[in-house]
Amino acid sequence: MDHFQLRDGEMFAEDVPLARIADQVGTPVYVYSRATFARHADVFREGLRDIPRLHLAYAIKANPNLAVLRVMADAGYGADVVSGGEMARAMAGGVPASGIVFSGVGKTPDELIKGLEAGIGQFNLELEEEGRVLGALAAARGLRANAVLRVNPDVDAGTHAKISTGKAENKFGIPIDQAVAMFGRLAAEPGLNLRGIAIHIGSQLTDLAPLEAAYTRIGRLVAELRAQGHAITHVDLGGGLGVPYRPGDNPPSPAQFGAMAARVTNGWDVDLMFEPGRVIAANAGVLLTRVIWVKPGVVHPYVIVDAAMNDLTRPALYDAYHHFEAVRPSGERMTANIAGPVCETGDTFAMAREIDVVASGDLAIFRSAGAYGATMASTYNSRALVPEVMVDGDRFAVVADRISPETIMAAERLPEWLAA
Ligand SMILES: *Cc1c(COP(=O)(O)O)cnc(C)c1O
Repeated sequence: MDHFQLRDGEMFAEDVPLARIADQVGTPVYVYSRATFARHADVFREGLRDIPRLHLAYAIKANPNLAVLRVMADAGYGADVVSGGEMARAMAGGVPASGIVFSGVGKTPDELIKGLEAGIGQFNLELEEEGRVLGALAAARGLRANAVLRVNPDVDAGTHAKISTGKAENKFGIPIDQAVAMFGRLAAEPGLNLRGIAIHIGSQLTDLAPLEAAYTRIGRLVAELRAQGHAITHVDLGGGLGVPYRPGDNPPSPAQFGAMAARVTNGWDVDLMFEPGRVIAANAGVLLTRVIWVKPGVVHPYVIVDAAMNDLTRPALYDAYHHFEAVRPSGERMTANIAGPVCETGDTFAMAREIDVVASGDLAIFRSAGAYGATMASTYNSRALVPEVMVDGDRFAVVADRISPETIMAAERLPEWLAA
């Protein structure tokens, strides 16, 4: 459930009419509901209530806005980060360093040092050499870094190829059949407190079976490692739970997911971590846009909106579906293509879609844009960087400014030898 609903024929975010935000901030603009973020955080936690020693780390790459991070920190979530920049954001957003998990296949030595110096909770190692380097950096500082090995369980997550991460050929994790031997070698590093295993097999998973298969493999691996004498106290099961994007989509609920996770992990006797991203953020945000033109087309008209692929990349990148609705729907419907102004054919949000009738100047939303939306935005075609707004009840605030092309240009320089 989210808080973007029609009231008397007009779309609201919580108690704020979206038209008011468009008037005051302009379009395109991302609009987030604080209440939806908080509700999703609670529903996800509630789904996992049968898991003892539960730790939740919000995967901030889904939506790293500082206001969002503050809402998640207030809901008791730590943070899963994948870069030094995300680590800095998580701390600026109020997540204690001890609640931060550092994932990612290419952490640089400089990022490892920053994590050590900040005292983050855990490093999820992606290869043996990373473990050696981290161990040496920690030992040189008189520290022992909490670490787990990220394993690639070789399961097909059944999602879009570009967001699958747990097949043997993907770049992520250590092949599961090498994990026991590598664990043995790295456990001897004096600078490491190697304490468990992590996995993350992909995103937008709408079937629990691949997750269950992967978790089952991890359960066997934990038993094997213990049989070798290793103390396994922490397992990180990653994120990936899918969300409804289309009307009628019915992915597993957090309660169904939690019941499966509790059953499969029963008796593991570990601190268990989950790293939800999309399931928290996607339906807590919309992209509010204005129709520029309705351009006649050969088959269907093109609704040209002022949002584009630089603001919301998912359709161009993953063929993703985002539901489109008028802010003041008349009740009439039409079949149209929806596209942005960017000079790329890929800047198309939908083809031959049945939508609310809209005309030039009308406001509309793309739903489910709270995750992997603003955070992937660019300024391609010298467009402004899209702003973000958070609503709370009957008030709202701009939580990220629109950054103008002039501001971006101001960071560019002519070299002396061209300026003359
Ligand atoms: C992206 C990512 C997540 C979050 O994935 P969602 O599908 O958004 O839940 C969690 N853990 C890791 C390591 C990730 O890379």
